[in-house]
Amino acid sequence: MRTIRVRLAVWYAVALAVTMFAFAAVIYVTQRRDAYVALDRHARAESDLIASNLAEAFRGRGGLVVVDPQTGQPTLTPEVSQQLESVPGFVVIVDNQGDVLHLSADARALPYGSLIKLLGRAFQAGPVAGFGLVDLGAPDGEIRYYVRRITNAGPRVDAVLTGSRTSGLTLGPRRLLVVMVAVAPLILAASTLIGFLVVRTLMPVHRIAEEVAAISDGRSLHRRLAPLRTDDELARLTATLNAMFERLERSFASLRRFTADASHELKTPLTVMRAGLERAITHPDMPPEAMGVLDETLAEVRRMTEIVDSLLMLSRVDEGRAPLHLEDVDLGELLEELAETGSLLGEQAGVTVRVVTPRRPMRISADGGRLRQLLMNLLTNAIKYTPQGGSVDVGCRRTDVSVVITVQDTGIGIAPGDLPHIFDRFWRADPARSRTGERAGVGLGLAICKWIAEAHGGSIDVESRPGRGTTFTVTIPADLEVS
Ligand code: ADP
Repeated sequence: MRTIRVRLAVWYAVALAVTMFAFAAVIYVTQRRDAYVALDRHARAESDLIASNLAEAFRGRGGLVVVDPQTGQPTLTPEVSQQLESVPGFVVIVDNQGDVLHLSADARALPYGSLIKLLGRAFQAGPVAGFGLVDLGAPDGEIRYYVRRITNAGPRVDAVLTGSRTSGLTLGPRRLLVVMVAVAPLILAASTLIGFLVVRTLMPVHRIAEEVAAISDGRSLHRRLAPLRTDDELARLTATLNAMFERLERSFASLRRFTADASHELKTPLTVMRAGLERAITHPDMPPEAMGVLDETLAEVRRMTEIVDSLLMLSRVDEGRAPLHLEDVDLGELLEELAETGSLLGEQAGVTVRVVTPRRPMRISADGGRLRQLLMNLLTNAIKYTPQGGSVDVGCRRTDVSVVITVQDTGIGIAPGDLPHIFDRFWRADPARSRTGERAGVGLGLAICKWIAEAHGGSIDVESRPGRGTTFTVTIPADLEVS
C-alpha cells in the first residue's frame, strides 16, 4: 500500500465489487417483491373470476351444491366443477358449514396432511378474506394463497381459496444470487485488473517524482523533466516544474557567479594589501606602537584571504569547475608533512600533536593537494578547539575496501544537536566557545572537507562528546589505490 497507484487500484476494485454486489442485492430484493405482488394480484383476479362465475351459475340454474352419491358429502354440481377445473393452481371452495365443496387438481394432488395444514391455516378463524402464506415443507414448499368471501352464489357457497407455490418465484432471484456468488472471484479479479489498468495513467507521476528528486539534488538543476505528449494535468505539472527549474537554475547561477566574481575581484587587492603589510612590518624604521596595529591588520587580511579562497573554491565546486587531479599519493609522506605542521601549531597552542604514519608506504590515487587541504583543515580545527594541555592524534589504517584516516582530539567537543549541521556552509557552533585569542573561522572548512572526501568517492564522519573530545573519520575508497 506504499504507492498511490496501488491504493487507488485496490480502492477501485473494492468500490467496483461493492457496487456490483449492492446492485445485484437490490435487483434480487425488488425482483422478489415484484414477483410476490404479481402472484397476489393473480390470486385475487382468479378468485374474483371464480366468484363471478359461481354467481352467474347460481343466477342461471339456482342451487350449485349437490350431495355426492358416492361419499354422501356436499359438492358442487359436476358442470360447475368441470368449469373450475380449467383454473390453474390451488382452488378450494368451502361452504358455510366448513365443508369442502371443490378441490382443484393441484389441491387434490397434495398429500392429505399438507392439504389439512393448508385448509387449517386458511380457514382456522372462519373464512376471513385476506392473503396468507403456509409452509408445507418439502416437497411442496411454501404456498401463497388468497381467501375471498362469496356472498351471491347461494346460501351454501361461502368462500374460495386461490393460491400457488412460491418456489417458482424465488428460483429466479435465488439463481441470480448463486450466480453472483459464483462469479464473485471473477468480478474481483477483473475489477482489480481494470483498476491497475486505470491507474497506469498515474505512471508518469512516479517518473516525475523520481526525476524531480534527481534534479533537486542540487547538482542537476540544468536537467529538465521529459515533456509529456498528453494535454492533461500531468503535462501541465511537468511544464510548471520545468519552468520552476529554469528560474531556480538562473537564480542559482547568478548567485554563484556573484560569489565567484566577488571572491575573484577581492583576491588581487587582498594580495597587494598583504604584501604591503608584510613589507611594512619588516621595515626597520617602523615605530613600535604602529607595529601592533599592523600585526593585527595583517592577521585579519590573512583571514580574509582564506575566506575568499574558500568561497572561490566552493563556487567553483557548485559550477562543476573544480575537477580532481588524481595522482599517485603516498599517504605516509602526506602524514609526515602533517606531523611537522601539526607539531609547530600544537607547540604554539600548548597541545600535544601525535601523528602515527604507516610503516609501509600506503599509496593511493588521489588529488594530493585536496587531500592535504582536507587533513590540514581537520588538524587545525582539532588544535583550535582543544584547550591547552590536551592532545590530538592522527592515525591511518587500511581496510579491504578503503583507507581510513582519523583525527581525534581531547577538546571541547560538539553538542549532539550541533552535529548534523557542522558540515553546512557558514555554520559555526556558538562563537563564544572558541578559545579566547584564537582566530575565529567562518564555518567553511568542514564544508570543503566534506566535498573533498565525497569527490574522491569517500565520506567523512564525526563522533563527539561535549567536554571529552571529537573524532573525525575520513574514508577514501581503496579502489583508487594504485599499489
Ligand atoms: P571554522 O572555520 O569555524 O572552524 P569549520 O567548518 O571548520 O569552520 O567548523 C565548523 C564548526 O564545527 C566550528 O565552528 C566548530 O564549532 C565545530 N568544530 C569543527 N571541528 C571541531 C573540533 N575538532 N572540535 C569541536 N568543534 C569543532
